[in-house]
Amino acid sequence: MMLRRSLARLSPLLSNGALRLNPKPSLSSSSRSFCSSSQTLSPSPSSSKLDNDHTESSGDSSPAVAISIDRSGLCNPPEHAHEPSSDSELVKHLKSIIKFRGGPISVAEYMEEVLTNPKSGFYINRDVFGNSGDFITSPEVSQMFGEMVAVWVMCLWEQMGQPPSVNLVELGPGRGTLMSDLLRGSSKFKTFTKSLHIHLVECSPVLQRIQHEKLKCTDELINEESGAKSAVSAITDAPVTWHASLDQVPSGSPTIIIAHEFFDALPIYQFQKGARGWSEKMVNVSEDSKFRFVLSPGPTPALLYLSRRCQWAPREEVAKLEQIEVCPSAMDLTRKIAKRIDSDGGAALIIDYGKDGLISDSLQAIRKHKFVHILDDPGSADLSAYVDFASIRHSAEEISENVSVHGPITQSQLLGSLGINFRVETLLQNCTEEQAENLRTGYWRLVGDGEAPFWEGPDEQTPIGMGTRYLAMAIVNKKQGVPVAFQ
Ligand code: SAH
Repeated sequence: MMLRRSLARLSPLLSNGALRLNPKPSLSSSSRSFCSSSQTLSPSPSSSKLDNDHTESSGDSSPAVAISIDRSGLCNPPEHAHEPSSDSELVKHLKSIIKFRGGPISVAEYMEEVLTNPKSGFYINRDVFGNSGDFITSPEVSQMFGEMVAVWVMCLWEQMGQPPSVNLVELGPGRGTLMSDLLRGSSKFKTFTKSLHIHLVECSPVLQRIQHEKLKCTDELINEESGAKSAVSAITDAPVTWHASLDQVPSGSPTIIIAHEFFDALPIYQFQKGARGWSEKMVNVSEDSKFRFVLSPGPTPALLYLSRRCQWAPREEVAKLEQIEVCPSAMDLTRKIAKRIDSDGGAALIIDYGKDGLISDSLQAIRKHKFVHILDDPGSADLSAYVDFASIRHSAEEISENVSVHGPITQSQLLGSLGINFRVETLLQNCTEEQAENLRTGYWRLVGDGEAPFWEGPDEQTPIGMGTRYLAMAIVNKKQGVPVAFQ
């Protein structure tokens, strides 16, 4: 009851209907899971050419049996005496790992290097978001996204008994837009904003600087012991600290964690079913010095992850699939999140594109708003994979009896329950014609399904809804009850 009242009270009141001033992204910008129907799409990136390198396999189809790495059947990586000088730093680095390892690397290792290699990973040295970047995310589409997350967080804080000190953690904040809209949207609720200690988990120094600016941070401090950078956000006077991983965020206070499009960037392993059971799909370098996919000739250690994941899936679900992706990093991270919520109280909200079950073959590469081949010029395109929400649920439930997992529900259900309809009405009352157009298309992109039916502009700019493809899941300390929007 109290929560329903809070919602009705909060959504229309957020920051008095003010529109944020930053320019809107153009409508043609694509999200990571959708491209406008008329955008050039290469054939499904998942149909990447696969060279089956294996000669002899152990013939054992059981994934969990004695594991050893048999690389004998894989072709020896070529000597790259005359590396093409056009190779980027990252390409040279990947080739040298494969060369010195004496065989192919897992798709997970490839993905991790491509995205977060500390020198030249995709995220590390530039702003990859928006029109001039590679893809667009919901917080960049409309301020309403961050404002609705603010409503969820404030309701949860009420459910937690309004603690005077809360760690509000965001994993992978990108440009900091979600957090900035959350703080601006909630700035009138002083008791709430005074309780906040913001922790941003971000691996990219460039994005950390952009987040610093976006949150209007001042009074920067470097902790001599931990090296962590802190500052104060002038939006609400909340302290903000940056960390490289969740482990570094101090525990001991009630915690609310937000992860928007973070899990889809975590490295996945890929497996393919063959006559003799499951093989791991890996990345090698061919004679002509190009990257290519190969299949492991025998069991690899990563098959343990596959067997662990498949324990949670009905046999028929596994039997139907020829390929399976597993993300052990997502399972590990979920266990850490659940343990923290168990010990400190609070909740996590995970929003991403994905499925409530086994994922088959979803890894994709996007450069400048277009799909490209996964192995093409690594480091210059984003790599992301569908999030396996069922594995998140099982990982959390297995590690703690004191947390409950809710959802996934669709983004459209989440934002609808949090009052986005009231919010868009309020904003529409006080804006220019151009802003109204942006609000309507932004609203559609956040909650709609498919192409916007009202669109009268050029076909190639038709706004595509992310409302059903994106899902939301909450992991909550049972003491807090059921979080709003998940009832
Ligand atoms: N949440 C943002 C950005 C999503 S992109 C939005 O919705 O707009 C993924 C973000 O996670 C980026 O900020 C990227 O730099 C960060 N990131 C990816 N992998 C990471 C890792 N292993 N550790 C810390 N940050 C990571």
